[in-house]
Amino acid sequence: MSLRVTILGSGTSLGVPMIACPCMVCQSSNPKDKRLRSSVLVQSGETNLVIDTGPDFRMQMLQSGTTHLEGILITHCHKDHTAGLDDVRAFNWINNTKAHVYAEASVIKSLRQEFAYAFSESKYPGLPDIILNKIDEQPFEVEGLPVIPIRVMHHLLPVLGFRIGDFCYLTDTNHVPENQFSKIRGSKVLVVDACATKRTFHILIYHRHLNSLRN
Ligand SMILES: [Zn+2]
Ligand SMILES: [Zn+2]
Repeated sequence: MSLRVTILGSGTSLGVPMIACPCMVCQSSNPKDKRLRSSVLVQSGETNLVIDTGPDFRMQMLQSGTTHLEGILITHCHKDHTAGLDDVRAFNWINNTKAHVYAEASVIKSLRQEFAYAFSESKYPGLPDIILNKIDEQPFEVEGLPVIPIRVMHHLLPVLGFRIGDFCYLTDTNHVPENQFSKIRGSKVLVVDACATKRTFHILIYHRHLNSLRN
């Protein structure tokens, strides 16, 4: 299986730069300090999968030149991973297709609440047309492309990571249970963040410190 993987965003939940932040990184002109919210595009043949649709989803689809999506995998319910879902309307209209979202039951419940208008009985014309496909920790396929969900922890919140072929993506992760190691073993590319580490807290404290200096 030959895959093309594009990191669409690698920023924090607030993105980099962060609104109103005077810190060195947020004020930097280095293009590496311009980071959209976390998301990744995985392409295999004619199949395009995106992992997460955060607030920057629209720009990420435009910047990557994505013209169709066969599947949207959602790692967890936080807004920085889901807020852009409404913009699948463009794919609905242009390609005359429904958006296939793959998420676990708790995330589906949250998406139904967050985007209640899209799932209401009486549909206003032009609403996002989304099919919610319930997944768990068992492998599944999107258009013949095998996906292995990996259970990880985001502090107390269970999150799903995904392995597609040799590529493994774990976002918002500060703990990987040992019984998941075998799913990751042998990956050629592993993307893993380390949220809620000491470093993250130091950055948060640094931001607060700067703010207190300004006040
Ligand atoms: Zn900053
Ligand atoms: Zn999160």
